[in-house]
Amino acid sequence: MDDSGFSGSLWSRISTPMAASPHLEGTARCDVAVIGGGYLGLATAVHLAQAGAAVRLLEAEEPGFGASGRNSGFVVPSFTTALGPESVKRALGPEFATRLATMIAGAGDFVFDLIRRHAISCDAEQRGWLQPAHSPARVDFLRRRRDEWAAVGKSLDLLDRAQTQRLIGTPHYEGALLDRSGGQLNPLAYARGLASAAQSAGAVLYARSPALSVERHGSAWRTATPHGELLADQVVLATNALTGPLAPTFARSLFPVHAYQIATEPLGSADLRTILPERQCVTDTRRHSMAIRLTADNRLVSGGLTVFNTRGAAQRAAPYFLKRLHDFFPGRGPFHLAFAWRGQIAVTPDFLPRVMQLGPGLFGAVGCSGRGITMSTALGERLAAFLVRQDPSALPVPITTARPIPFHALMRHGPSFWLPLSRWRDRRESTSKIA
Ligand SMILES: Cc1cc2nc3c(=O)[nH]c(=O)nc-3n(C[C@H](O)[C@H](O)[C@H](O)COP(=O)(O)OP(=O)(O)OC[C@H]3O[C@@H](n4cnc5c(N)ncnc54)[C@H](O)[C@@H]3O)c2cc1C
Repeated sequence: MDDSGFSGSLWSRISTPMAASPHLEGTARCDVAVIGGGYLGLATAVHLAQAGAAVRLLEAEEPGFGASGRNSGFVVPSFTTALGPESVKRALGPEFATRLATMIAGAGDFVFDLIRRHAISCDAEQRGWLQPAHSPARVDFLRRRRDEWAAVGKSLDLLDRAQTQRLIGTPHYEGALLDRSGGQLNPLAYARGLASAAQSAGAVLYARSPALSVERHGSAWRTATPHGELLADQVVLATNALTGPLAPTFARSLFPVHAYQIATEPLGSADLRTILPERQCVTDTRRHSMAIRLTADNRLVSGGLTVFNTRGAAQRAAPYFLKRLHDFFPGRGPFHLAFAWRGQIAVTPDFLPRVMQLGPGLFGAVGCSGRGITMSTALGERLAAFLVRQDPSALPVPITTARPIPFHALMRHGPSFWLPLSRWRDRRESTSKIA
């Protein structure tokens, strides 16, 4: 197996390749330059082009090369578990909190509608997202969460133990929230479909065109690539965890978190009768969340974090994730490992999306913190509306400056230090004693 991440993933193996985009040669001009061809950059480009802006997108490798082509494909119309509408209100104030909660509450429907409108072939299944509780206390937590979301107009179902067991196929949960607007898809095919939609709308995409620098050039911005330059009135950095030296202040405002995935061989018919029989995707309430889904060809996909993110970590971590699957589905399987790969997520200190102003007309944005399919796609649409109308009220978050995280070089390893303690706490709390 290949540990390179992108080419080693299940999605690279099964997704239809895109027609190759050219790389940037010579000088090009546009209204808005988008740097980064993940969901955020692509969704921004789609909506900018649809609004009539001249938009060109620079991607260092190919669309979907970053987290967007390597994730698990869970369409989760919610914040990360640590956040609910109430805590977002405390963080952002009532006006932005309402805008952001409304955006994320509707983001499942938004993604699946976008897929239908652009006829994106990505095995999209809007069958719901389940968040099961690993302890009785977490059922109370989910009940409060359901009520918080109801207050902003989003209706969620709280399932009891028996309903949860039937829908997931494991006895290990106490209950679950079901969000029927969630679902799952092939993440790389979705990214490639967004890239085609952007091109059809009139955006110009350049692959293998890394932005090397972004500098002021008269009243415009000049982005240099190895073989050309792009002049634009406005620039959006949508480079997520892979930003690097292009914009160090922006990069140091985010934690890059390594995440690992496995996919099994397709399950047999006996397992498919009991494991996720209605094909919802699942991320539970653990701190180190258990995440499970079925693919279109009936493989199980799961994964999480590891302590040592060195070369070969995806292969070293795979047996742990496989064992976790066996523990979760006692008497099922055996499951056989087929793929193991890795990617990087950009996480903000408070897990909220950001739009940062890095200069006049130069913005760095990040939607993600682990909910990128919904959050980054929906934020891209809002960002495009803002750039076209120059109206900050289009955004679900305030425009901030970049705020580098103190001791970033050290703090970026925080998730690795945090993981063993989180697993221990998860195991102590959980009814099943699995972590
Ligand atoms: C293993 C894993 C599992 C995940 N599971 C889920 C999930 O199930 N559901 C979910 O919603 N989210 C999930 N996420 C998070 C989700 O994938 C991300 O939030 C989302 O893809 C971020 O999109 P993005 O466009 O911001 O960044 P990316 O997709 O990372 O795109 C950034 C792009 O910028 C390009 N780039 C970087 N620097 C330059 C440069 N100098 N010039 C040009 N281009 C550049 C990169 O090549 C890359 O293509 C997961 C992430 C990982 C890693």
